[in-house]
Amino acid sequence: MSGTDLPARASRLRGARALFTTRDGGVSGAPYASLNLARHVGDDEGAVAANRERLRAAIGVDVVYVDQVHSADVAVVGEGDEPDGGSVRTADALVTRRGDIALAIMVADCLPVLLVDAEAGVVGAAHAGRAGLLGGVLENTVAAMQALGADVERVRAEIGPSVCGSCYEVPAAMRADAERTLPGIGATTRRGTPSLDLRAGAVLALTGAGLRAGHVLSDAPCTVEDERFYSYRREQRTGRLAGVIRRA
Ligand SMILES: [Zn+2]
Repeated sequence: MSGTDLPARASRLRGARALFTTRDGGVSGAPYASLNLARHVGDDEGAVAANRERLRAAIGVDVVYVDQVHSADVAVVGEGDEPDGGSVRTADALVTRRGDIALAIMVADCLPVLLVDAEAGVVGAAHAGRAGLLGGVLENTVAAMQALGADVERVRAEIGPSVCGSCYEVPAAMRADAERTLPGIGATTRRGTPSLDLRAGAVLALTGAGLRAGHVLSDAPCTVEDERFYSYRREQRTGRLAGVIRRA
């Protein structure tokens, strides 16, 4: 398979080249089969390297990854920053003006959020799970893009494959705490138990940061329900998909 044939969910973001990977198109064996992009999950290092090379070929430039820790911290990728290898940083979001690299965020149920202001030539990618979302990772990402020249009125965002509000069951006390921090994030599972709707929370966070409601896409498949994607909730030991974005 040539790199450009990598099976992926194409992003509908205008003004950027972006995609969300699926399980398909890689070389990892079970339980990581097959396009696992994460090093920290117990998969074979060589397989992960081969999978990352396929993603690099598909997106056409080197891909920057970060060591994600459910923080609200944003890394600015500037001139001279190495895309990978020795200079991997700890952060849960990335922003850049560079056109010669792509930004990647890895997830298995958490939200991969891709952002772009095409006119300013600024792109961003954020890892928004419960902790990051409540900690302000999306607001911080938008602010970091503004610092690079983005106009929040123009910024468009897409929330990729991730757990839906009907599947993300949490204890009642956790839902209550989250609802106090981000009103509107609380939800209910199909069984009627407490849950969080991280996507609804992300939309609220992004519009609260100034994005136009019509500029936020949030209709991706649920990773728990759709077996084309990795899901930590469904499988525990599993790989990670990536949301990847570069300037158009
Ligand atoms: Zn679901």
